[in-house]
Amino acid sequence: RVRTRIAPSPTGDPHVGTAYIALFNLAFAYKNGGDFILRIEDTDQNRYTEGSEQMIFDALKWLGLDYAEGPDVGGPVGPYRQSERFHLYGEYAHKLVEKGEAYYCFCTQDRLEKLRERQKAMGKAPGYDGHCRSLSKEEIEAKLAAGEEYVIRLKMPYEGETIIKDRLRGDIVFENNKIDDQVLLKGDGFPTYHLANVVDDYLMNITHVIRAEEWIASTPKHIQLYKAFGWQEPEFIHMPLLRNSDRTKISKRKNPVSLNWYREEGYLKEGIVNFLGLMGYSFGENKEIFTLQEFKDNFDIDKVSLGGPVFDLVKLGWVNNQHMRMKDLKELTELAVPFFRNAELIGEELTEKEFDTLSRVVDILREGAQTIKEIVDQSEVYFKDEYTLPVVTEETDKKEVKGIERLYTVIQDETGKKSINLFQEKIAACDEAISIDRAKELLKETLDEVGEGPGKVYMPLRAVLTGLPKGADLYNLVSIIGRDRTLARIERMKK
Ligand code: ATP
Ligand code: GLU
Repeated sequence: RVRTRIAPSPTGDPHVGTAYIALFNLAFAYKNGGDFILRIEDTDQNRYTEGSEQMIFDALKWLGLDYAEGPDVGGPVGPYRQSERFHLYGEYAHKLVEKGEAYYCFCTQDRLEKLRERQKAMGKAPGYDGHCRSLSKEEIEAKLAAGEEYVIRLKMPYEGETIIKDRLRGDIVFENNKIDDQVLLKGDGFPTYHLANVVDDYLMNITHVIRAEEWIASTPKHIQLYKAFGWQEPEFIHMPLLRNSDRTKISKRKNPVSLNWYREEGYLKEGIVNFLGLMGYSFGENKEIFTLQEFKDNFDIDKVSLGGPVFDLVKLGWVNNQHMRMKDLKELTELAVPFFRNAELIGEELTEKEFDTLSRVVDILREGAQTIKEIVDQSEVYFKDEYTLPVVTEETDKKEVKGIERLYTVIQDETGKKSINLFQEKIAACDEAISIDRAKELLKETLDEVGEGPGKVYMPLRAVLTGLPKGADLYNLVSIIGRDRTLARIERMKK
């Protein structure tokens, strides 16, 4: 049975790379009728951050990247947290010593530093020189008896090659004499990443290791570890790294990398998952918009392409917009409620009518917005009745100055006054609830009766109704805010 996994380390905010790799592992397992599992690799105490593990769970759940086994859901081969498996790593390291595949190394930090300096001076690559590999049994026992601190190192073969048979990349060949004897167990008894990772993948019956390209250099060490244990190695598949637009590995400085950020900005899980599914992968048939289920159903690992996919926020925005437009309006509005609350545009409690109004606002604005936050940002005009005309300052964009200055004249001139008064009369004669069609009619009538071009009539109306030179469709606006608020806005601005 196919089993895949992700093995993130809880070292900070949940990384988009984690979700990306999770998506491909999940789809591969799904397509092969297997399991996708989560293991937390929390053996590096220095990089451990409180709360990070929970954020990984939350982010994966948010995105719907469900794992069949994991620290919080359990499973048959747990525990799924390396800190709860410590006893195993020591045991397995010592097994390798007994088999003659690994050895105790008593070299002091001091010696290792001097070694490094010497190698540097000679222009050689740094690496352990195998000093303790030839200690006799008696020497080892004496040192152990004296309580000398030790690490356990893997005996790398001095000759030959280690070959990764990467499904996407073909054979990647490493010369064994260039790989030094890896530490497996550290002086404090903690395992290194290599040891814990291999032991756990083996004990958790992982058949396919699908991980980011940055781990390629570790893989020959892992392959040698499998050999040393006498275990069948899993298949290794290295995914291309997500890149900044300058082709460097995606990084905080150039792109947000925290899944929390995307969630807080109001990207939909559907948008994020779809976008990640486009990274190094093409669905085929020129299809760019798809659901997680469609992705899983159509997944084919051999279609992954290796040219570094660029993590492009513009593209993500487009994908997310598509999903916002496809989404059930009620669901989208429910998702948007906390964002409106945050912006203090709505209160804690919403009546059914208020929710309806909100969903109309969402519906209008989702067309042109990339995120829920953008919907909220563009929605002020529907909520705030107290606005003033903008004032030109030094910071005003030059292109906008003219438009703003015109606002002041159009509401004062003949046509402007006439348009405003006429429209006001028409609204006053309406019921409180005004349909979009009714609002359209009233605007059209005003236009016809004033007998001037649309710009000359609508601009002053927009100015009194919103305080802005452009934006919101007036008929939508009037229909959403209703008669009384429309009149109040006009009254206030006429003063
Ligand atoms: P950063 O340089 O931003 O700190 P990192 O590699 O240190 O990145 P981690 O938290 O270690 O970040 O990464 C979490 C997971 O995401 C790891 O499994 C890593 O392989 C994967 N990952 C990190 N960066 C990328 C990337 N650019 N593309 C694909 N996967 C990535
Ligand atoms: N703990 C590693 C990480 O942070 C695991 C890498 C792997 O998949 O082997 O991603």
